[in-house]
Parts: sequence; C-alpha cells; structure tokens
Amino acid sequence: MPFICENVECRAVLARGQVKTVHEDAGWCFYCPDCKARNELKETGAPDGPIELIQPESSGLPHKVIAAARPLEDGRYAAQLRIQRALGTRGTYAVEEHWDQLDVFLNAQEAVAHAKSVAADLLNRKA
Ligand SMILES: [Zn+2]
Repeated sequence: MPFICENVECRAVLARGQVKTVHEDAGWCFYCPDCKARNELKETGAPDGPIELIQPESSGLPHKVIAAARPLEDGRYAAQLRIQRALGTRGTYAVEEHWDQLDVFLNAQEAVAHAKSVAADLLNRKA
C-alpha cells in the first residue's frame, strides 16, 4: 500500500521508499515531498515484532472551503464559496471543486465576511 498525501490540493501517491517516516512527539508521520504537508501515521503490529506504519483512515474525506469575493461589472461584489473535496479515488487530480455564488454586496470586505460565515456554518454542520 503506498502512502497518499492528505492535502486536498496535492493527494500525491507515494511509494513507501519515496518517503522518510519520522517519529515526533505527536507520533509517527511523514512529510510529503511534493507539498511538505504533515501526514499522520499509526504504528501497528505485535509489541515485540517489527514496527509497521499505516496511514489512519480519515473519518471524512479532506475538504477545503475558501471564502472569496468576485467583482461584478456593476462595481458590486458577489460573495462566493469555493469548495474543494477530495474524491474517494485517490490520486493527484482526484479533487472535485465547485463554486457557490452567495449574495451580492457593495464592497469586497462585506462579501468575504459573508462567505466566511457561510463557510463556518458549512464546516460546523459536517463536524
Ligand atoms: Zn502532498
């Protein structure tokens, strides 16, 4: 089983020989050679046997929500949510992305603030 980077924008599939596993205070992990993200590892195997490291199954697929404001032609700003979700199939391009257009605001700050509060609601609901 190869390791897979859990970073939604990366999802690199890495042969075990390609990554250097390290033991830190927080436990075993490896750093993705492509994006430098920390990926958690779990130790398995018999206590007196050789150490075997596995990637813990993450409870949900990693996702990322980005709040943004898009300028409109009439000078106003549309609040937008950009949602990236890793697909069940793993691999570098296994990311689904879509934009949600929210309300329209007079300035960019208000639009971003609105998008952020919607994003927070969304993430709370999933947790
Ligand atoms: Zn990575």
